[in-house]
Amino acid sequence: MREVISSQTCSASELPEALSVAEVALPIPVFKSFHYLIPEQWRGVLRPGHRVRVPFGSRSLCGWVFSLHRESPWGRLKPIAEILGELPCSEDLLGLASWLSRRAACPLGEALRSLVPSFLSFSHRESSPPEPPGEATHCPESPVCWTEEQRQAVSVLESELDSPAPRPTLLYGVTASGKTEVYLHLIQKALGMRRQALLLLPEISLTPQFQETLSRRFGTGVALWHSRMPATARRRVWQGVAEGRLAVVFGARSAVLLPFRNLGLAILDEEQEGAYKQDQKPRYHARDAALKRAADHRALVVLGSATPSLETYFLAQNGSYRICRMSRRVSGSGFFPQVRAVDMRREKNRVLSASLLEALSETLARGEQAILFVNRRGYSSVHLCRLCGWVAKCPRCGVSLVVHRQGAPQLRCHHCIYRIRVPESCPQCKGRGLAFLGGGTQKIVAEIGAALPQARILRMDRDALSRHSSPQGLYQEFKDQKAQILVGTQMLAKGFHFPQVTLVGVADADTALRLPDFRSAERTVQLLTQVAGRAGRGERPGKVLLQTYDPDHYALKAAAAGDYSAFCEEELRIRRQLGYPPFMFLVRVLVSGKNQARAEAEAEKLAQRLRERAAGSLQVLGPAPAAYARLRSRYRFHLLLKGPSWEKVEPYLEEFSRWSLPSSVRVTVDVDPQDLL
Ligand SMILES: [Zn+2]
Ligand SMILES: [Zn+2]
Repeated sequence: MREVISSQTCSASELPEALSVAEVALPIPVFKSFHYLIPEQWRGVLRPGHRVRVPFGSRSLCGWVFSLHRESPWGRLKPIAEILGELPCSEDLLGLASWLSRRAACPLGEALRSLVPSFLSFSHRESSPPEPPGEATHCPESPVCWTEEQRQAVSVLESELDSPAPRPTLLYGVTASGKTEVYLHLIQKALGMRRQALLLLPEISLTPQFQETLSRRFGTGVALWHSRMPATARRRVWQGVAEGRLAVVFGARSAVLLPFRNLGLAILDEEQEGAYKQDQKPRYHARDAALKRAADHRALVVLGSATPSLETYFLAQNGSYRICRMSRRVSGSGFFPQVRAVDMRREKNRVLSASLLEALSETLARGEQAILFVNRRGYSSVHLCRLCGWVAKCPRCGVSLVVHRQGAPQLRCHHCIYRIRVPESCPQCKGRGLAFLGGGTQKIVAEIGAALPQARILRMDRDALSRHSSPQGLYQEFKDQKAQILVGTQMLAKGFHFPQVTLVGVADADTALRLPDFRSAERTVQLLTQVAGRAGRGERPGKVLLQTYDPDHYALKAAAAGDYSAFCEEELRIRRQLGYPPFMFLVRVLVSGKNQARAEAEAEKLAQRLRERAAGSLQVLGPAPAAYARLRSRYRFHLLLKGPSWEKVEPYLEEFSRWSLPSSVRVTVDVDPQDLL
């Protein structure tokens, strides 16, 4: 039996000298930690959270002491060479690292590396006594005219904040319903309780607006955090948070891993955003991390959104989370824009419909502005009937089939092994209208230019942005009315305010809908709702036109009706039926390699092995080619593991992480993947 003294139970004075073995997590990509002998002079001194230098093969590495043991199952141990320092808030951070390692299926050493930035030098740490948070930050609250809905939300959230075990709360508020004011008020209240507050935003480009507001309101105890900040600034914030000097942190996803001393409140704005999931190791979701940290600190998590993720919506519906609704706009005309789907099956022009063209010219005639939205993630391999809107779908997975042209053309499912021949005519209407979806900003701009030669058009996409130093320059140009029409990608949908915009057109509402991913409908409605939120924010009412080949699709109908909850109910029904989150827990295993046949064969072997191991408790789907079947000259295949819950899936991942896999392929495990492309 190994006796483990964890960081929770020991302090320096109580440590028995019998504990002679330290478990050390090293920053190397293997799923184990290593045992080292504690030299006699450090027994009773060395603790979990200490940074140490240890011999490792012919090298010497720095790692973290994770736990202490009486003995080790591995015979002769090498001694620890040096104690370098100690991790602040070590109990909290070691617990977080352990969680992160399990949840993101990454080695403990790598999890710790992402929690403790390399710039921290522990050999000469200047220690200053901790100060209580919020000292310089008790500015008077600016007077707010609360709406009735805001007042109710604030009262619910305040009572949760006061509670000894706050329940996570969904703040389900439409665009411009005044969520930001509610956030600020809660932050103020948390500071009043001498606790730290965290505000997470999905886009760094939104932070300047927030920075100004927060600094004006809360003074010097406010700090911005994102991973692209210079090392000196990050170091200052990291230490300030650890020492409790910084009371309010706002920024990107990784701010959730900061060493808070006394977290009272964590807010995720636009909680449904994919940007909250880290797309490299460790692949964690900031929402999960916030919930974990809040549970450790007895803090309140507020998930704010006009279009919450299905997972959050479901948990709010079944009572696991509290829910506060805000359905009225506080600013602008107070009206929702009129949203209409344009049926492209009846249009001659496949890029710009007659309705959109007419609406554009009317808008320009009134001296107002328009935004035209083109989906960035154009996906041209999806087959669609332009006459009736039929799309080939996998009968098992419910996602669009994708054309493969190697050998005889086939339509293949990108989740499972289903495949069929490409039909010659449409199976639904028997017509010969089968074609690919697609378009692009340039094409749209050219078409508008031809139809409305007098219009001044501004294009915003990757190419155009590379000519400007920042999106802000482009935004300013448009705001100053130097152009009448802005054509761009989904970047346009985020949080910007153009009072003169009264028309928003979506050129290809279907593109996102047809991505071979079970979240494509959810993402589409979220996107369309955000886009619609750009119209009519000033004094004049707005109009939104969605061009589609499938105007009766429940996602488009819900977007047009502005009824996100209706969409969620229908989508939940389908997810339950097909076995997708939130009803099942998914893990994606991506296998890639330069040699296509070898990558596929290895994926096949892996699938076989997983099927044998997890028979009866996990479903293993695939291998199938990933939607992006070839990326950076690597062929990509994926497996999907489906289990009833995280707890049921985790043991298999732990075992899987110990398998040795061939070096000819790269294997990536994505727990709770946010996209399957
Ligand atoms: Zn058809
Ligand atoms: Zn399938």
